[in-house]
Amino acid sequence: MASLTVNAGETMRGFEVSEGQLCVGGVPLQRLAQRAGQTPFYAYDRGLIRQRVAEVRAVLPTGVQLHYAIKANPMPALLSCLAPLVDGMDVASGRELSAALDAGCAAAHISFAGPGKREGELRQAVASGALLHVESFREVEVLGRLSAEMGLPARVAVRVNPDFELRGAGMRMGGGAQVFGVDLEQVPALLARIAQAGLQFEGFHVYAGSQVLKAELLADLIGRSLDMLLTFRADLPGPVRHVNLGGGWGIPYFPSEQPLDVAPVRDALLAAQQRLHAQWPQAQLVVELGRFLVGEAGIYVARVLERKVSRGGVYLVTDGGLHHHLAATGNFGQVLRRNYPVALGNRLAESAVEQVSVVGPLCTPLDVLAHKVTLPKASEGDLVVIFQSGAYGATASPQAFLGHPPCVEMLV
Ligand SMILES: *Cc1c(COP(=O)(O)O)cnc(C)c1O
Repeated sequence: MASLTVNAGETMRGFEVSEGQLCVGGVPLQRLAQRAGQTPFYAYDRGLIRQRVAEVRAVLPTGVQLHYAIKANPMPALLSCLAPLVDGMDVASGRELSAALDAGCAAAHISFAGPGKREGELRQAVASGALLHVESFREVEVLGRLSAEMGLPARVAVRVNPDFELRGAGMRMGGGAQVFGVDLEQVPALLARIAQAGLQFEGFHVYAGSQVLKAELLADLIGRSLDMLLTFRADLPGPVRHVNLGGGWGIPYFPSEQPLDVAPVRDALLAAQQRLHAQWPQAQLVVELGRFLVGEAGIYVARVLERKVSRGGVYLVTDGGLHHHLAATGNFGQVLRRNYPVALGNRLAESAVEQVSVVGPLCTPLDVLAHKVTLPKASEGDLVVIFQSGAYGATASPQAFLGHPPCVEMLV
């Protein structure tokens, strides 16, 4: 994708532009790099995060709870920024649980999902009072023992693996044979075990996948997931208080992708809420979003170390790469390698004149941040910006690979 020429006073992907430089939180890029003390760095814009949460709130039907799935970006300062803005957080490890608690999220509003929870993690969750999304019979057995030992019944919701799939998902996590959740057919038996084990049953969780941009698919999924949960009516060990129907709301990474149209999703949630309350009046509907809240509010910035020409091909060799931003190099589960949106963040007023590939310093041909993009003429010291980098960045990358220095993260 070509970088755009931006005039003063304009914005680029929501970020302010001043005198040809991209700004995060009002700070121009070169100043930001000085403030970071190094390149490469990630910068996340608080204002854009707040704005996005407000937009989501405006769309969600009244009473639908908004949770942040912290694996998208668990930076402590970002969690503290989000904690007062959302109704809860979803975690997937003991350390993420600690991070959510540290950020000031009330334990009662934390839910803990994920396969293979270790006994220590389960104990941590019971002790803190977080809700466990149980994903196996083994977890129920261990929780029964821990609850008895601790004199504190574990709060549990059952993560159900549906008998249908989410089509159009970037990553699929439900339907067919899965490590995630308990197969729909086995749920009645699991509910019986939960009652016998003396656990505090609270409801259900369905999470079928991630990075969906087709609203009709998400809307359809919400309806079908609820249909499925309502079939457990006769098997319940207690009142249903919590129904988490997942999220999966995607963001556009590539020129061929359009932003998600949230209106059909809202309509589906409203319909689901009405049906849910007709059946289970105490149940609260929860939506859990990761990248949709933070993905577009973050950039990754690397400095050009060298402009290398090889048989007519121009390479901008930077100090950043795959080890900090695996997803931008197409190696985080993507089937096709495509370029994330990229710009020379300190030359936004200049015209794009040259086709280049932006690469990192790692000794592997996989370390390509942008393949054959058209940018203004770059030289050593220029700052390459990769947009859509607020989620699945630093913590989703192999920072130790090849022994280059780590990146820093800033919330501005
Ligand atoms: C990964 C994950 C999410 C967040 O996915 P996004 O695509 O970032 O919104 C939410 N819930 C569960 C259970 C997950 O595993």
